[in-house]
Amino acid sequence: MIDTLTKKDLDQAIAKRRTFAIISHPDAGKTTITEQMLLFGGVIRSAGTVKGKKSGQYATSDWMEIEKKRGISVTSSVMQFDYAGKRVNILDTPGHEDFSEDTYRTLMAVDAAVMVIDTAKGVEPQTKKLFQVVKKRGIPIFTFMNKLDRDGREPLDLIAELEDLLHIEGYAMDWPIGMGKGLKGIYDRQNKRIELYRSEAKGENFIPLNADGTIDPSNPLAEEGEYQDALGDIDLLNEAGNKFDLAKIAKGEQTPVFFGSALTNFGVKTFLDSFLSMAPGPSAHETVDGDKIQPDSDDFSGFVFKIQANMNPNHRDRIAFVRVTSGAFEKGIDVTLARTGKTLRLNNATEFMSDEREQVSQAVAGDIVGLYDTGNFAIGDSIYTGKTKVQFPKLPQFTPELFVRVTPKNVMKQKSFHKGMKQLVQEGAIQLYRTYNTEDYVLGAVGQLQFEVFQYRMLHEYNSEVEMTPIGSRTARWIDPEQLDPSMASSRNLLVKDLAGNPLFLFENRFAENWFHDKYPDVKLTAKFEMD
Ligand code: GDP
Repeated sequence: MIDTLTKKDLDQAIAKRRTFAIISHPDAGKTTITEQMLLFGGVIRSAGTVKGKKSGQYATSDWMEIEKKRGISVTSSVMQFDYAGKRVNILDTPGHEDFSEDTYRTLMAVDAAVMVIDTAKGVEPQTKKLFQVVKKRGIPIFTFMNKLDRDGREPLDLIAELEDLLHIEGYAMDWPIGMGKGLKGIYDRQNKRIELYRSEAKGENFIPLNADGTIDPSNPLAEEGEYQDALGDIDLLNEAGNKFDLAKIAKGEQTPVFFGSALTNFGVKTFLDSFLSMAPGPSAHETVDGDKIQPDSDDFSGFVFKIQANMNPNHRDRIAFVRVTSGAFEKGIDVTLARTGKTLRLNNATEFMSDEREQVSQAVAGDIVGLYDTGNFAIGDSIYTGKTKVQFPKLPQFTPELFVRVTPKNVMKQKSFHKGMKQLVQEGAIQLYRTYNTEDYVLGAVGQLQFEVFQYRMLHEYNSEVEMTPIGSRTARWIDPEQLDPSMASSRNLLVKDLAGNPLFLFENRFAENWFHDKYPDVKLTAKFEMD
């Protein structure tokens, strides 16, 4: 299987991988910190290129015009770079909550997460939601308290809030010396130094700490009130704070907390260096049969966590994003698709650098490869080489709550309409249903914005103008086909079937569902795709 890599090369290559995602509430600074990391990685040369909010330049992650218009990142993309002896893969996640399903699946493909918090706002709703997904996976979570150049909340409060709202211990790796206009620097407990904040970097930025944890009294900083306050807090943390515990960090029970300002690139390098040295390499993945697939296995395996059509509007393509879970991926390998048992030859793959997509020659466990797909893959698919079947658990899907009926405006353009519907739905962000008797198209989504993007993409990518008639918010409940009697349909419960042909009712509201239960007490309804 491994032609060009010896076992030792493979092991070394895997050990270098660090694959993570950044979670945050919109506006906390995820894009800004990502950009700084890309700068350190040498991928981009100037800040402001990832999201062209200020500079007017646009980069790969803004491939869709709608993103530019709204200034939000709708799609997940993958950024890879080498830094400090590591091969770093950052999986970008859409910030808007209507796309949280996409984000949830992306979080299944990472080995660690970075949580960015705005120090003025603390833990916000979207942070909390995403945190819970990561927590459930039991992977390490690192926290970056951002925007220290502005006045924010008390650092001790921010740490306490992690425990109160997220139920995770916070361990301060460093500590702010002042904030906003009074920001002097950070007290770096780990590296035993003070990192000075200067708007223009001149001279030495670091002051080493003496053995007792203080700086030389002759240093002018020693006189500053902010420094004295920070020392007081540090004393408190040393005495009464959580104890640094790597075992807890590995399980996501303790989060190392760093402070800084992404915008002024302060504390970001310190964070990145510590984070990369502590974050784990690729971990073992468990199959539905309970086998643990080790990353350094001789056989290749991976799973599809995302499918995206038309990444590049100039070339019609569909890309299946695969997280490599074991072994090495090489161009032209034959894999088995666990769902169908079919063998596929993977000739066409792409790897992700920030602003160009390159043909991949080799990727190993921890990496993400993009496979050009002609309709073979579905989200959650497992692929593998070797004789033993590898089937990873299903990925979470949300039950859609909003529904619209979709029709083409121009009936002469049925062909492009059907093609677009089929391909966009396969990406998995939006669900397609057909009504029972008339085969009308009904779309289900978690948020309204998903419909808007869908409509926009139908027009721009498939030249198909579509009309969307809202059906409103509904509760989707599947019914056993054996128990289905078409007379059960009424004006309050639209009967449809999903892509696999399974029947379900879209109930107008809870009342309509209860009414149905009362009328047909023996009929069992399930919220099949529900995720808590
Ligand atoms: P995202 O929505 O989480 O990706 O947030 P962005 O990175 O786009 O940042 C949101 C806004 O906060 C932008 O206007 C940034 O310039 C600003 N911002 C990000 N980091 C900092 C920071 O450290 N300090 C200050 N003052 N502003 C910041």
